[in-house]
Amino acid sequence: MSDPYVMQINETGGPDVLVKTARDPIAPGPGQALVRQLAIGLNFIDTYHRSGLYPVSLPFVPGSEGAGVIEAVGDGVRHLKAGDRVAYLGSATYASHYTGPAATMLKLPDNLSEADAAAVLLKGLTAWMLLFEVYRASPGDTALIWAPVGGVGSLLVPWATSLGVRVIGVTSSAEKAARARDLGASDVVMSGGDVANEVRKLTGGEGVDVSYDSVGKASAAASLDSLKPRGWWVSYGNASGAVEPIAPGVLGQKGSLILTRPSLFAFVGAPGGMQRGAAALFGALKTGTITPHVGQTFQLEEAADAHRAIEGGKTVGATLLLP
Ligand code: NDP
Repeated sequence: MSDPYVMQINETGGPDVLVKTARDPIAPGPGQALVRQLAIGLNFIDTYHRSGLYPVSLPFVPGSEGAGVIEAVGDGVRHLKAGDRVAYLGSATYASHYTGPAATMLKLPDNLSEADAAAVLLKGLTAWMLLFEVYRASPGDTALIWAPVGGVGSLLVPWATSLGVRVIGVTSSAEKAARARDLGASDVVMSGGDVANEVRKLTGGEGVDVSYDSVGKASAAASLDSLKPRGWWVSYGNASGAVEPIAPGVLGQKGSLILTRPSLFAFVGAPGGMQRGAAALFGALKTGTITPHVGQTFQLEEAADAHRAIEGGKTVGATLLLP
């Protein structure tokens, strides 16, 4: 085992700004637990922090989630003890060790490994938020799902399908299209073509009830043009860059459309939100509605390579960083 360390940025920029930096574990204070991390889920938001798209104060350690084994707990922690296996949302998780609030750490069920937990926690909660808290997808709805085989997408597609929703995926290659169909998409259109036109053809000219859109700048116009009157454009990510401003009048002209830009932390941070989301997520895993899919792993020290891979659209499923 190497000495304790974090992957830190001292300046924003490309993947190479991530540097390995020695850092002793932080002793847990009251209400906290110290975890030896075994797996860290890579999320696209980590690249926004690194690049400066989302401003951070420097120096900064990226990372929004992790899973591992508790080494010590602080005063007042009763429900967790050393040796327990946990997963959590948090900050600065690009590290061999994580110290954070024990109250929000989830004890892992016996049948869920740390790696699988890190693969599904943040991304599965995002899928839950989108389907149950933002636009409540119903049987008979048709949903357009962008990046359907990515970290979030590979959970969102089967979960939506299980609710009786018809899923049309939008992706970039024949291999990814085949995988999207395996996950439950009834149809797939190619992001390089005229997406809105293809969607109209597939829906008898009607359009879709909702577009779950993680691509952002490059997908905005096609999302808007693919919706039914009063359809929902759920813009939840910026994989291609931030969406340009849109005048409210455009939503009116295109059919009284609804635009929302949800952020997971507003949902899991609301009273009862984390409990609701975690219950739904662990339930969906238990019934096999969704399954963890670790598409690729990198050593934590190679986080720069992992960032290059996800930003290059080269990943499928979840990507893990292993300390
Ligand atoms: P993904 O695994 O989905 O990776 C991104 C995918 O986006 C690529 O594989 C690619 O899929 C697609 N893509 C399209 N255009 C581009 C581009 N120009 N550059 C790179 N990728 C592109 O990532 P995650 O699952 O980690 O995250 C998905 C999205 O969800 C991100 O935008 C993220 O910010 C957002 N998110 C938002 C949350 C929220 O609270 N709002 C919470 C969690 C995630 P393809 O080849 O199929 O087009």
